[in-house]
Parts: sequence; C-alpha cells; structure tokens
Amino acid sequence: MTLFDNHNRPINYLRLAVTDRCNLRCFYCMPEEGIHYLPKKELLTFEEIYRLVSLFASMGVTKVRLTGGEPFVRTDLMKLIRSIVEIPGIKDLHLTTNGILTSAFIPELKKLGIASVNLSLDTLDRQRFKAITRRDEFEPVMKTLEQLLKEEIPVKINAVVMDGKNIEDILPLVELTRNNKVDVRFIEEMPFNGEGSHYPVLSWTYKKIVSYIQEHHPDLHKLHDADNSTSYNYTIPGYTGTIGVIAAFSRTFCGTCNRIRLTAQGVLKTCLYDNGVLDIKALLRSGVSDDEVKEKLLYAFRHRVKDGFEAEAKRSDHLPVHESMSTIGG
Ligand code: SAM
Repeated sequence: MTLFDNHNRPINYLRLAVTDRCNLRCFYCMPEEGIHYLPKKELLTFEEIYRLVSLFASMGVTKVRLTGGEPFVRTDLMKLIRSIVEIPGIKDLHLTTNGILTSAFIPELKKLGIASVNLSLDTLDRQRFKAITRRDEFEPVMKTLEQLLKEEIPVKINAVVMDGKNIEDILPLVELTRNNKVDVRFIEEMPFNGEGSHYPVLSWTYKKIVSYIQEHHPDLHKLHDADNSTSYNYTIPGYTGTIGVIAAFSRTFCGTCNRIRLTAQGVLKTCLYDNGVLDIKALLRSGVSDDEVKEKLLYAFRHRVKDGFEAEAKRSDHLPVHESMSTIGG
C-alpha cells in the first residue's frame, strides 16, 4: 500500500536525522562556534525510532535514510541499523555520512545489505577540505571512499558547489567517474547554515553547474531520470560512473517529492523548507497509541505544501530558512 499526499505524490521515503552532532564544521552548514547541541533526552531514543519506522513502514514507507548531524557520532548507531533492516516493509536502508568514522563499519554494513551510502565530499584537495570543513580529516574520508568502492557498496558523492570555494574541484570530481562506479552529485548551496545568511542571488545554480561541465565535456550525455529523482543525471561516454546535479535551492523537483523527514529532535517535516509540521516526539511521549500517531501523520500528509517556496512562505516562525542542516538531516 502506498500513501499519496494531497498533491497526489506518493510518500514512501523517510529521511531520519539520528543526531544533530557532527565532527565537522562545514561553513555552509554550521557556524564555527556557539552551536547548541540538543541534550540527549531531546533526541529520539532508539526504541522511539524503531517504533516510528515500523509505523511509517505500515503506512507504505519502504525506503529509509539515516542522516544527521553525523550518524556515526551517535553511540551504537550499528545497533539501530541492525534493528531497522529487520523491520518488515523496509526494503532499502541508506546512509548519508561524512566518512570520518565510517570505514570500520563498512564490512558489517555490506553484510546487512545497506542499499547505498552517500558520502559528503566537496573537494579532492586536502587544504580546501580543511578550509571548508574546518577540520583536518581528509584522509579518513578518502579511506572510506576507497573501502566503499572495494566492497562494491553503491556510493554517491555529495558535493555542495560553493562560489569561490571549490569551483576548481568540479572537474576533478567529474574525473572520479571515469574509472569508478560512483555517482558524483553536485548540489546547489542552500541557506541552511545556522546563520540565516545566503547569497542575494545564487550564482552556481544547477544550470550553471551543468553548463560548466558541458563546456569541458561537450559530450556530456543526459540520462533518463528515475521517478522521484532529485538530480538531473548525466554521464560521459566511456566513463564508468554518473554525474548528478541537484537543484536544491532552485527547487525544481518538488512536483515529484516522495520524502518526509524526521529531525534529530523528533519533529516531522513534510518539506525540507518548512520548519516542522508535527512534534512526533512530544506525541509519543504523551503516551498515545500507534493509531493516534498514524491519524496525526495522515493529517500531515494530506496537508502537504505544494513546493519548497510555499513551505518557506508558510513557516510558523515567519523567518527565511536559517537553521543548520545538521538538525534537519540533509
Ligand atoms: N554528516 C553527514 C554528512 O556529512 O553527509 C550527514 C548530514 S549532512 C547535513 C547531509 C548533507 O547535507 C551533506 O551532503 C551536506 O553537504 C549537505 N548540506 C549541508 N548544508 C548544506 C547547505 N547549506 N546547502 C546544501 N547542502 C548542504
């Protein structure tokens, strides 16, 4: 059974932030100092997550992505992963990680049948990595990439394209797709940086990113985009991997959006750009039954905004988006 929202979009994909903590400080995501992490009791417990994912599965969710913050910063993450893969109805479990602590867990992830890993990597240059992330952790991330490829776990690299910061990395990242079975995805920079600042006009839009790659690879070949794909997908003839470009700020893909999100503090978002539509943690902790939770979820799914622009306009805090992506789960 698949649920459809009020705009006739299926809802079958849950993105779950397991923590708001991170071991990097990427400037486009978090301020360098003054971050107030949630106290542990404000995070959903593993038992609550298990209950919720089971509930979502019974409502037609088949795909789950664990994200954060950095998922591996949460103690005993593997315990949670082991329990989620057992939930009837959950066909695909995916992970988004910065790769710093990940490599040690790759053999078990493989054994558990993880569907894919998204690795965030904005540059292939160690110095620029340090400048962007404010941490000197390039090597463990590259080790994770190597190991994911070795274990043949489907891997996508997420690179945020940042004016003046990593434009020189676009072509080297494209080059990674020459000999590696990897999907490199370039993402428009969004305002989720914890500071509320953004460009008056975004310069590196998806169109500009595609044109830039095309200028250097005139044979860039457009691939068919799967239903619900957030990326425009390409390949270069003779290359092993693929290239994706994600209009995350231009928001061109809302019409087929099949995803819902649970923030680290247990708030439901039915659009990345809203500021939360239901405090599920409070609901669970008030002692309600599964049926009562489902009823509230159904209400939220039937009152989904049309797109990210409407979501931003309707935020209850009446502010433009400003929160850090680490609390939302990118
Ligand atoms: N720690 C994990 C990681 O680094 O992949 C998961 C969480 S991180 C918030 C998820 C993704 O969000 C990363 O690929 C990151 O690059 C992306 N992200 C964070 N802030 C962003 C922003 N302002 N614009 C676009 N993407 C952003």
